[in-house]
Amino acid sequence: MNPVLAPPASASLIRSEVAGLPLYDPGADTDEVAALSGSRRVIKLSNSENPYGMSPAVAEALRLGLAGGVSRYPDPTGKRLTEAIGKSLDVPARRIVLGNGSENILELLCQAVLGPGDLVVTQAPGFSLHEIFPRVMGARVQKVPVTAEFGFDAAAWRSALAAGPKLVFLANPCNPTGAMLNAGQLEQFLAATPQSALLVLDEAYGEFARPNPEYPDGLEALRGQDRPWIVLRTFSKAYGLAGLRVGYGIASDAALIQALDRVRTPYNVNQQAQDAAVAALGDHAHLADTVRRTGLEVARVTERLRGAGLRVVPSSTNFLFIDTGCPSDRVAKELHRAGIIVKAWREPGYENYIRASLSTPEDNDVFVRCLTEICAKDKP
Ligand SMILES: *Cc1c(COP(=O)(O)O)cnc(C)c1O
Repeated sequence: MNPVLAPPASASLIRSEVAGLPLYDPGADTDEVAALSGSRRVIKLSNSENPYGMSPAVAEALRLGLAGGVSRYPDPTGKRLTEAIGKSLDVPARRIVLGNGSENILELLCQAVLGPGDLVVTQAPGFSLHEIFPRVMGARVQKVPVTAEFGFDAAAWRSALAAGPKLVFLANPCNPTGAMLNAGQLEQFLAATPQSALLVLDEAYGEFARPNPEYPDGLEALRGQDRPWIVLRTFSKAYGLAGLRVGYGIASDAALIQALDRVRTPYNVNQQAQDAAVAALGDHAHLADTVRRTGLEVARVTERLRGAGLRVVPSSTNFLFIDTGCPSDRVAKELHRAGIIVKAWREPGYENYIRASLSTPEDNDVFVRCLTEICAKDKP
């Protein structure tokens, strides 16, 4: 038989739910873009990473941790970190779960809660893992579109939620649009979500939105509610620890955390990540500095791109969702040739959009110049 045509022996073993899944798109590879562009310093704007890096207190914790060696398993309960988080938020540690990134917690929630045919509701355009992890479990995912202005569509959510989902994912601020729900919109959303559903509020970018008085703290909004909920946060974005993989969830009750403990791999967060996160949590000044500098760049770059005639969604995060006016795959490729990595969006209706996270002012200037040149050239 022609070896090219023969399906591999493993093919028949793969569950149909898995075989049909889209692959998570991590964006272009830095080494490949470096080779393509011939530039040694690639500007990576594809993963919403923090250009200012970790707190010096984190560097010191990592140095100390390494000196102690890595032959021991990490603390499977994450005691020091859950207690530090609990103390900072006034929540008992038993209602906090740690994940290998908050993505890991999204996955655990799906494993613990969802079975074949269950309904999940989330937003479109959205974070791909809010769809991929439910589908792994055989759940159905219904996506609620944003309004034409990239806002929260209360009526569309109400009708989707009326179908009785078992789990609801909402990111606030939203990825990839960068838009946020204000307190009134969050209230509308909560009122429309059935009490029987598990409500997952993903606040991966919450730290960037918090200086805005209109941004509702999800934990405060949910604290008093008599329903199952979990708020997810991460050290990957504003804290600059993406490479260490550590995020956390604050849940309505300890029983939900115990369910996640049953499905998670026992040592899911390595000790370096736990120690680093404790140190990061203690350095308020570093976080505030990152948030302040990011906010200035978001405002400055948004204004410059708009000045060049591009549509940019108002962002409460560290990234921008930009209408390039032409197929974004092509724009992304041209940017790659200039040594800049952004994410070309692929969801239906948004194929002209890129998502670009912000870097230092110098990097952002290079990005603005290249993008406006490419877009001007493509104009009829
Ligand atoms: C980045 C991101 C996360 C989590 O990232 P981790 O690195 O796994 O903590 C979760 N949700 C959204 C919407 C994100 O953009």
